[in-house]
Amino acid sequence: MPEECLFCKILAGEIQSNIIYRDDLVVAFEDVNPQAPHHYLIVPRKHIRTTLDLSTADNELIGHIYQVAGKIAHDMEFAEEGFRVVNNCNEGAGQSVWHIHFHLLGGRDLTWPPG
Ligand code: AMP
Repeated sequence: MPEECLFCKILAGEIQSNIIYRDDLVVAFEDVNPQAPHHYLIVPRKHIRTTLDLSTADNELIGHIYQVAGKIAHDMEFAEEGFRVVNNCNEGAGQSVWHIHFHLLGGRDLTWPPG
């Protein structure tokens, strides 16, 4: 775990967050700057820097993340109205934390194309 990684610190409990889901592979918590009524970050416990650093060994993990996104949306009752899962890769796409994470957004109409 890189000592300077914000999300590693959150996962280790060293920095406070509002965790809404956890299992052996991932933790999900409220985004501190929500862009929708429901805005959670699904973060693998494994430190992976960006989407470009994924390997085939992570295929099951990424599939699991989408399963978790659907479960959270279902359990929080915003699945039927629609939700979005977003992964920003590199600065040009808005990535600001260098530990791969998936935004789960819902609870309002989500326009397309995104900004
Ligand atoms: P990205 O810009 O795609 O890398 O997403 C990083 C997200 O982390 C942003 O939406 C931030 O609002 C969020 N964030 C930053 N610091 C924290 C924190 N301490 N707790 C929860 N979310 C955070």
